[in-house]
Amino acid sequence: GIQSRLNAISAVTNYSPTAAPLNFAETKPTDLFGCNVFNHKVMKERLPGDAYKSLKKTIEYGEKLDSALADIVANAMKDWAIERGATHFTHVFYPLTGLTAEKHDAFLVPDGNGGALAQFSGQMLIQGEPDASSFPSGGLRTTFEARGYTAWDVTSPAYILENPNGTFLCIPTAFVSWTGEALDKKTPLLRSLQALNKQAKRVLQLFGVETKLPVISYAGPEQEYFLIDRNFVFSRPDLLIAGRTLFGAKPAKGQEFEDQYFGAIPRRVLSFMMEVDRELYKLGVPVKTRHNEVAPGQYEIAPIFEAGNLATDHNQLVMTVLRNVAKRYGMECLLHEKPFAGINGSGKHLNYSLGNAELGSLFDPGETPHENAQFLIFCAAAIRAMHRYGALLRATVATACNDHRLGANEAPPAIMSVYLGAQLTEVFEQIKSGNIKGSKKKDVLTVGVDTLPPLPMDPGDRNRTSPFAFTGNRFEFRAVGSSQSIAGPQVALNTMMTESLDYIASELEKATKGDPEKLNTAVQSLLKKIITEHEAIIFNGDGYSEEWHKEAAKRGLPNLKTTPEALPEITAKPVIELFTKYGVLSEAELHSRQEIYLEQYSKSINTEANLVIRMAKTIIFPAAMRYQGELAATCANLKAIGHDVKMITLEDVTAKLRMMQKSVGDLEDVLEKVPHGDTLKEAKYFCDSVLPAINTVREWADSLEIVVADDLWVLPSYQEMLFIK
Ligand code: ADP
Ligand code: MG
Repeated sequence: GIQSRLNAISAVTNYSPTAAPLNFAETKPTDLFGCNVFNHKVMKERLPGDAYKSLKKTIEYGEKLDSALADIVANAMKDWAIERGATHFTHVFYPLTGLTAEKHDAFLVPDGNGGALAQFSGQMLIQGEPDASSFPSGGLRTTFEARGYTAWDVTSPAYILENPNGTFLCIPTAFVSWTGEALDKKTPLLRSLQALNKQAKRVLQLFGVETKLPVISYAGPEQEYFLIDRNFVFSRPDLLIAGRTLFGAKPAKGQEFEDQYFGAIPRRVLSFMMEVDRELYKLGVPVKTRHNEVAPGQYEIAPIFEAGNLATDHNQLVMTVLRNVAKRYGMECLLHEKPFAGINGSGKHLNYSLGNAELGSLFDPGETPHENAQFLIFCAAAIRAMHRYGALLRATVATACNDHRLGANEAPPAIMSVYLGAQLTEVFEQIKSGNIKGSKKKDVLTVGVDTLPPLPMDPGDRNRTSPFAFTGNRFEFRAVGSSQSIAGPQVALNTMMTESLDYIASELEKATKGDPEKLNTAVQSLLKKIITEHEAIIFNGDGYSEEWHKEAAKRGLPNLKTTPEALPEITAKPVIELFTKYGVLSEAELHSRQEIYLEQYSKSINTEANLVIRMAKTIIFPAAMRYQGELAATCANLKAIGHDVKMITLEDVTAKLRMMQKSVGDLEDVLEKVPHGDTLKEAKYFCDSVLPAINTVREWADSLEIVVADDLWVLPSYQEMLFIK
């Protein structure tokens, strides 16, 4: 306690920039960008002309890589990597833990004559076979069928990760079982993109829009995180193991002054950010913004949006780089959704749109009546999708950590709704009532024969209380947790959108029967139908308010407050039908996912419960008892010299100690009765019985923290962790 405080204070006061300061004048960010990526520039330089052309096509159109080409690419990649100092290669994959996994293989193989040579074939590039028995599969595999395959995702380029002692080549891959079932986050994302492309193209075709490139989803994830001095983490087992503080009284000052948001960035933190940006530039991650967030010690980094699949891999890299670079600056980067009670937690706003390089964003209102009709159709698809499958989207962000955040007046509630903004709402209102007001102005938005108010409308939405908000040319999904992979929410969004676009294409095809003249009328009546059936999902007001909770209930919108309430949605009948229809996830894969996520939930609360018991007994109880002893000794001394004292503090500490001990005993009892066997029952028990028991221990412990002598309290306080930087 005392020592870690002193260490942290000296780390801050003695901080000086690293030995070799970064000089961006010598090495420009534009030169750095992508220098460790096997990107188009490198491919063009190193591959024979026709090989490059055919690889480029494979990447752009998301086609399969043939094995002859794979050998050529592998060879060029190996030479490039070895020239840059790489000794190993690894297939990077994304198991259902939400983390990034890698197993390294050396390029080096013995040549049979006592020497060695470097080897990397096309086969080694496109396929790996890690022993997958220790990854969660939710019953999809038994350990004797432990083989899993990793397969290179050509749409995500290979790159080199540098270390002070060497570098290695990373190949982003999908991870599947030997029977072809998805064991990871990438496989369903790729499948959902394929399904989306097919249905989006059908709709575009009706509008007479041709595009050679596939229609994809775009993602721009804004990543929040905390930074604290590393010394504190070493003396806080809760931060070290669970990633969040399980104890800690409210500091005298929190975030109430609102003096942190966009505030000047402390020097050590800024140095850290500079190096994070530099590392990410090298990896070709287009990081763009950085700033102080609302809570003390909280920050945000955001890249420019990219193709959803690439953005997902890049966001995993961002999280890795944040963690690694923080350590170099004597700090710890906390990605947990709620590291500190009583102040804001961290999320990840997922900016989401559909389109491609030729079309731009399909959520972008256009200039012509034709484009605007198409824009309204894609918006209507999103509205319909959210109304039908909002609960599924909610389930994709259900974790033990995110439960602390959602609906806690800092993040959107667990009720899914769509924010359209005043102007777009007005447009849909007019379509619904059929009372479309004409406008005589020149720059009007028209849908078919009728005129509507001009678009674009208020893009500067700052209604942060909405989980799914239209922000000018995209939707922003704000319920994602800071430590989560953004793959899951995108898989859900892409598939939900696919289903709505399929519906829309079928309706319009039926109504027009191939006659483009009939499109305008068909579009107008379909828009009217969709908005009439699904307007219950639209809400522009304050999502935090009590009235909204009541109103949402009246509208029949689900409010799945906790993870055990939300996760069963993954295997709800309409959801199974949705995913199987478009070949994104099979019923078995959905069940396995639900199992894994339920288990993860129970396991993380179980870990926290064990930590709480141990910390209460070995750290908090001894500190409070020592203080009690001091007070008792003082009391005895005073009595010895004739004072008849009744010491209030002694009574107080004694009573609180007793209550804390009792609450620890209660928690132990609750933990003994965990029902095993049924994962949902178990998760519910952790939610309804274990969590409240954890919270009671914390309440008593925190009440002791504010009375026990500071020099006896071992755990670093909130004040220290949040304000020493
Ligand atoms: P904010 O105003 O919400 O703080 P920004 O304007 O910086 O944020 O944008 C947030 C994120 O949204 C960025 O990653 C940005 O690239 C991304 N973004 C912008 N346009 C789109 C789009 N059409 N599709 C997906 N993401 C987008
Ligand atoms: Mg935003």
